[in-house]
Amino acid sequence: TIASSSSGTPVAHNAVPPSATSAARANRVAPHSHIKGLGLTAEGFSAGDAGGFVGQANAREACGVVVDLVKSRKFSGRALLLVGAPGTGKTALALALSHELGSKVPFCPMVGSEVYSSEVKKTEVLAEAFRRAIGLRIKETKEVYEGEVTEITPSEAENPLAGYGKTVSHVVVGLKTARGTKQLRLDPSVYEAILKERIVVGDVVYIEANTGAVKRVGRSDAYASSFDLESETYVPLPKGDVHKRKELVQDVTLGDLDAANARPQGGQDIMSVMGSLVRTGRTEVTDKLRREVNKVVKQYVDQGVAEVVPGVVFIDEVHMLDIECFTYLNALLESPMAPTVIFATNRGNALVRGTTDVVSPHGVPGDLLDRCLIVKTETYARAQIAQVLQVRAQVEGIQLGPGVLDKLAEEGERASLRYALQLLAPAAILARMAGRDAIVIDDVDEMGGMFLDAKTSASALAQEAGM
Ligand code: ATP
Repeated sequence: TIASSSSGTPVAHNAVPPSATSAARANRVAPHSHIKGLGLTAEGFSAGDAGGFVGQANAREACGVVVDLVKSRKFSGRALLLVGAPGTGKTALALALSHELGSKVPFCPMVGSEVYSSEVKKTEVLAEAFRRAIGLRIKETKEVYEGEVTEITPSEAENPLAGYGKTVSHVVVGLKTARGTKQLRLDPSVYEAILKERIVVGDVVYIEANTGAVKRVGRSDAYASSFDLESETYVPLPKGDVHKRKELVQDVTLGDLDAANARPQGGQDIMSVMGSLVRTGRTEVTDKLRREVNKVVKQYVDQGVAEVVPGVVFIDEVHMLDIECFTYLNALLESPMAPTVIFATNRGNALVRGTTDVVSPHGVPGDLLDRCLIVKTETYARAQIAQVLQVRAQVEGIQLGPGVLDKLAEEGERASLRYALQLLAPAAILARMAGRDAIVIDDVDEMGGMFLDAKTSASALAQEAGM
């Protein structure tokens, strides 16, 4: 096991709190919750509409080839570039591809313009996204004891340092369950925790031997009458055995470990320990810290305690990156622990940002473009837009009244699939305010009157400018 049983206080699991950015990422993935995979047959052909996907057969099959390349480790140093109009499913394809690589494969989406934050270096933003796209599955076996305390007997030994008196060498704890009573010989760290938590005979406790964590679950009914303990909770004697072995699996990313090690929290459970691999007192994630985290991770992998799960980093609007970022990306792609990299853009030929004269397809410099497999997404026909709308309405639990689907599909064809999808939720709110279960055509019209799609908005502005 990873954890050592030195002294310390037990802390709750998942000591790595979800960061604000990971919450934002979850929100970005939510609109794609209907996407379960690429929906391909075993031979790699697109099986009609499957996996939550409608149409886009070519792109799905091409992504399937990339999945095979990644699985056979023939995609390293390369990237996939998805090219197509807004709302043609580029993010959805990237997410589906990550699902195909395995369950619990990290998917880390970002938008090119995110690198231009005022606080962090552009290249740091990219480095962090890459780290968040590498998962680590940590396997831990826990020795867990549970029962009602019948005895707490510390054993003392001479302190090995002369003149320092005695020290606790171990503690004997008696625990009782409905099956019987056992005397356990446990580490001094458990005794310290028992004192700290003010555990007494009659308490029902939960002890994790290898982390030294002790938790009071309540007091046993048997002692209810002999103590005045109004505030205590009484629990029945636990059923089953005193000793249990528990297999725990935790999924984290290297990014989580970097962040946790930049502000270690202390504690003995596995995530706290993983969160203080590197004892440096640093408060910032630096390259040096990342290297140190890598080193410890490698040891755990070698010991068979952890397994690396490479995921997918998705950079939308890749044309927003500048030449410095592109140069850095070339280096990141070369690193031995790189995730699968997917870029997306809707640009044709464009000036590479940060240069004055380099015009390149998709605004991506030639050397990086050389490493890319380029896949084009098709614009949707009205029928396909209607299908996606129907799937989303179902997922979001929104009922569509007569003619609404056609109307929304028409809006989608005129503006974009994304626009039509975005009308769903507010139209449902209007319907609810009017006391209806289903959206009617009037709701959609009213929404269209309130919110402009991009094309209408742009042409309105152009008209005003012309006046
Ligand atoms: P942008 O260029 O603006 O980033 P995009 O090409 O990444 O857009 P998505 O965000 O993937 O487009 O698509 C918009 C919405 O439509 C999402 O909710 C997505 O899941 C859904 N969608 C797109 N294409 C399909 C499809 N072929 N089948 C099912 N759902 C789809």
